[in-house]
Amino acid sequence: MEWFEEYYGDVALKIKIKKIIADFHSKYQHIQLFDTFEFGKMLVLDGKIQLTERDEAFYHEMLVHVPMFTHRNPEKVLIIGGGDGGSLREVLKHDVSEAVLVELDGEVVELSKKHLGIDNGAFEDPRATVLIEDGIEFVKNLGERFDVIIVDGTDPNPYSEHIMSREFYEACSKIADVFATQSQSPFVQPDYFKKMFDNISSVMDVRVYINFVPTYPLGLWSYLIHSDESPSLDDIEKRFADRGIRTEHYNPEVHAASFALPEWVKRIVKDR
Ligand code: SAM
Repeated sequence: MEWFEEYYGDVALKIKIKKIIADFHSKYQHIQLFDTFEFGKMLVLDGKIQLTERDEAFYHEMLVHVPMFTHRNPEKVLIIGGGDGGSLREVLKHDVSEAVLVELDGEVVELSKKHLGIDNGAFEDPRATVLIEDGIEFVKNLGERFDVIIVDGTDPNPYSEHIMSREFYEACSKIADVFATQSQSPFVQPDYFKKMFDNISSVMDVRVYINFVPTYPLGLWSYLIHSDESPSLDDIEKRFADRGIRTEHYNPEVHAASFALPEWVKRIVKDR
């Protein structure tokens, strides 16, 4: 039986594969979908785990619900990346009027619809619009405003380098009330994390939050959020109760706790 291995420098995570569902190269990346014994289906792009069925909610719920509950009334939402549909599924749990997903690689969307299914029908929801194009180009000179913009982008690679550029964040800051992005592992990729933090903070105020995602590099994952509004825990609890959303990982206590940072993470954003 085969094993999948993801390397983080000289360290690796090894997961036993039950079946290879797909393995091909799109115009942009190497796409693999496996069935595994421990984690269910697992999507891998360019050798890096993007999600597994067992823990994808840990990631998608924190990426989406922290910004969505930070906004008092999110109606129009933009997702950049996220072609697997997990973020779209979580956004549509809120009473939004419109959710636009802009994914560069149509093959990720097609494969996810056909063989993964974590979108739970989100791609067919009448409130959803899926555009297959470059999300960075899309936000440039966009006249429209969005209540929330969420960046569910890939790990660092040549074709998505601009997804962490100052210009991209500046364009987003002009059209969003609340902005959030995944920001990799501060432990495994501190330089990349710091660069994202610096680029965003050069155009808008930003806060870091973290959580545990077992199949991401060594488990600790980070996110960055900008919001003009700073709701209290009471506000978040009230919004959570009012919106009646069912989650697996996220709740208001986890939301508040995710902003408690260890000293070493604080030092990365302050000092390096
Ligand atoms: N959950 C993942 C993680 O952090 O490991 C990320 C999700 S993955 C599905 C991210 C998606 O972003 C990929 O499908 C990739 O094609 C897409 N992407 C990369 N660069 C992009 C860009 N410039 N515009 C839109 N989508 C992009």
